[in-house]
Amino acid sequence: MASSSLFNKSVTSLSGIGAKRAELFNKLGIKSIADLVYFYPRTYEDWSVVTKIENLEFGENACIKAVLATPVESICISGGRILSKTTVYDDTSTINIVFFNNRYIGNMLSVGKEYYFYGRVTYENYGAVIISPTFAPVESGVKIRPIYRQTAGLPSKSIEKAVENALKLLPDVVKDSFPEQVRRTFGLCGLKEALLNIHFPSSHEMLEAAKKRLVTEELVVLNLGMRNLKNNNRGECGVKITTDYSEDFEKFLPFKLTNAQKRAVSDCINDITQSNAPMNRLVQGDVGSGKTAVAVSVSYTVVKNGFQAAFMAPTEILARQHYDTFCKLFENTHINVGILTGALKESEKKKIRQQIADGELDLIIGTHALITDKTDFKNLGLAITDEQHRFGVAQRARLLSKGDNPHLLVMSATPIPRTLGLIIFGDLDISIIDELPPSRKPVKTVRFFSNQRSRGYKFIRSEVEAGRQAYIVCPLVEDGELEDVVSVEHYAQELMANVFPDIPVGLVHGHMKADEKEEVMHRFVTGEISVLVATTVIEVGVDVPNASVIMIENAERFGLSQLHQLRGRVGRGSEQSYCILVSDKDNQMTKERLDVMCSTNDGFKIADEDLRMRGPGDFFGERQHGLPQMAIADFADTKSIELSQKIADYILFAYKDLRNDELRILNSEINRLFDNGGHNIMN
Ligand code: ADP
Ligand code: MG
Repeated sequence: MASSSLFNKSVTSLSGIGAKRAELFNKLGIKSIADLVYFYPRTYEDWSVVTKIENLEFGENACIKAVLATPVESICISGGRILSKTTVYDDTSTINIVFFNNRYIGNMLSVGKEYYFYGRVTYENYGAVIISPTFAPVESGVKIRPIYRQTAGLPSKSIEKAVENALKLLPDVVKDSFPEQVRRTFGLCGLKEALLNIHFPSSHEMLEAAKKRLVTEELVVLNLGMRNLKNNNRGECGVKITTDYSEDFEKFLPFKLTNAQKRAVSDCINDITQSNAPMNRLVQGDVGSGKTAVAVSVSYTVVKNGFQAAFMAPTEILARQHYDTFCKLFENTHINVGILTGALKESEKKKIRQQIADGELDLIIGTHALITDKTDFKNLGLAITDEQHRFGVAQRARLLSKGDNPHLLVMSATPIPRTLGLIIFGDLDISIIDELPPSRKPVKTVRFFSNQRSRGYKFIRSEVEAGRQAYIVCPLVEDGELEDVVSVEHYAQELMANVFPDIPVGLVHGHMKADEKEEVMHRFVTGEISVLVATTVIEVGVDVPNASVIMIENAERFGLSQLHQLRGRVGRGSEQSYCILVSDKDNQMTKERLDVMCSTNDGFKIADEDLRMRGPGDFFGERQHGLPQMAIADFADTKSIELSQKIADYILFAYKDLRNDELRILNSEINRLFDNGGHNIMN
């Protein structure tokens, strides 16, 4: 019988997988045999319905059962490619089959033998043809075939073979994460049955049952894990805040808080002064609604009561910007503001950490550096995460663990659909800032084709000449290819040399060193740079109210919510601001999406449209929610989410405590999901 250690052994222990192949598996995130078992198919080919050749429809995927009539004939065609061709027949008709660049195909197919062929039927000048179908001899008994996410050099078929071998290692009885009572009550099949059938379904019914079981389990695990996080944090709060200083704080602000901001502040103050439980509050508000001021006000009260406050931001740029703002705000007070980011020199970090531990610093702004083991607080009273969707729930929990059950304030501009909100923010109370500061004018948005770009440049020039500043954003994923970096650098050089030779232009992208980025941003903030060419590093939170134009290149490459975030970089002052979306894509989808951007400034409406047009897969694919990655569950699947909530309730009711022995496997799955541990179904 296989042991747990075997299950967690490297894939190289399977036959046919050497070090080189293992690297390819690694690329797909598969290291162990367990990883293979949990690497679910992307989709399936249905070989269970066989179509007669005479009934084939052009353009459709179909499975035929046919005999090879002629030997495979291979010829060289243009570009050094090899074309292999054969003809097959069933009892109704014949059809051609063609393969490209597979020099071994002749050895794999024999005349007179019967095979299943699965593929798309097309029409070429020599007649109907199936191009590069998958195939198997009829005696293989295949019904529904798994198709896996593949990578160059590692086709789905090889993965299928490896999974098949891995599944053979499962013991007769695997430890099931759901106790039998739960499975029976909710009509869920066993884990082993589910794992076998998700890869190699014996029928459509079994596939559905397997999916239901695995999806439900994943969501239940997520659900219980989220509740766990909340409970861990819901003990007695070690932070006693007695006096409300929020009115006192307003004198520091150069503006008056909006009513919505005031409401959010007073929600927080109520939480922290009136109960023994720690605050768990989300402040949600569209870009530019002024969430920062709310957070600082609450920090002020916490600090004046003798505790420290930590403010965690997702990027260096944002942390630095908050730091500058808070320093200025508290210039003439006894409040000591500090910053801790990964970019600081080791010696500086050490010094700051000492000051945090000694309690010399009251308000500490930082990036992930705040939650490393090395950072200890003297008496953390309030933990704030800005742009919450950029953090995982586990990171949020880690920040909280730095204090004695401190208060938590999370801020987000990303609107989340209701069902998903139930899971993500199930553990949070919510304040919504539904009002923008006065004198804001909605950003005017236009769509340009690239042949109108020079008009865009001309407009930018006129704004700069009127004393304002501009962003030009180029699409570049931050962990993107070097080519992209070259192209954005090239873009900036072109701009400096030929378009704005007389205007100070700066460039900032994610591949620059932190201090270089910071220097450029600083020069933009002070107005020394007028036009900033940037990648999406500026997408979150950056606040330069004097910027009045943002031009976004290849706008079709961004999600709508992301475009909205980018556009939120302008329109932060009282000047009329503009957003120019440049795109040459002319398809219906792009047109509709850019139309939405041009017609509304409402973040919630845009998120809804985004969801409607792109579908939940893409919307959540960007992982803009801070939840752990799901292997099979779909966050738009309301029915399953609701079922999982029922089951989670049932489990907590029936077993009282996740530490109950019957829940041992389920509990280890929860730990795995939140800590990235290994699957544990064999010990
Ligand atoms: P976000 O909610 O996107 O984080 P910020 O907190 O960065 O927004 O605020 C956006 C801009 O609006 C900042 O320049 C800030 O100083 C300004 N601001 C915030 N609240 C007000 C207000 N009540 N009146 C005027 N300006 C405000
Ligand atoms: Mg912000």
